[in-house]
Amino acid sequence: MEQEQQQQQQQQLLNLLLETTFFETCEKHIAKYCNFLCRDCKGPAFCESCKNEHEGHGVLQMYKNLSHTGVRVDDIKDLVDISEIQTYRLNNHPTIYINERPQRKGKPLIRQGKRNSCEKCGRKMEIEDQNKSRRFCSIECKLDIKPDNLLS
Ligand SMILES: [Zn+2]
Ligand SMILES: [Zn+2]
Ligand SMILES: [Zn+2]
Repeated sequence: MEQEQQQQQQQQLLNLLLETTFFETCEKHIAKYCNFLCRDCKGPAFCESCKNEHEGHGVLQMYKNLSHTGVRVDDIKDLVDISEIQTYRLNNHPTIYINERPQRKGKPLIRQGKRNSCEKCGRKMEIEDQNKSRRFCSIECKLDIKPDNLLS
């Protein structure tokens, strides 16, 4: 694939990820949440039962932690460059958050271990692996500061 074309696809995927609303109730299936996204159909998000309609497509699964939506590192690392974005363990899988997550005010800061802050939103991040530089807490934060650096 030509590099320009590939970058265009990555850009489209990033826009899609940031613009899509996940975990809404499915219109076709009661009590199912839309936590899947198809890279071929380019949205909107759909539920597990709707997934059958996307057989053989590039389907990405989203995960929810508290009220934040994340995507597994293994699923996204080959699609866009996620270096410098903080990873979190969610059900034992390294996960990164998609959107900037406003930090609740008044929460006491736990001074324990090494921490640094997201360059975009200032959110405190825990550093699991000190050999890796972590500058952003989410895809959105990195995209805001280094828009071209998400494209590999
Ligand atoms: Zn559905
Ligand atoms: Zn599809
Ligand atoms: Zn951030």
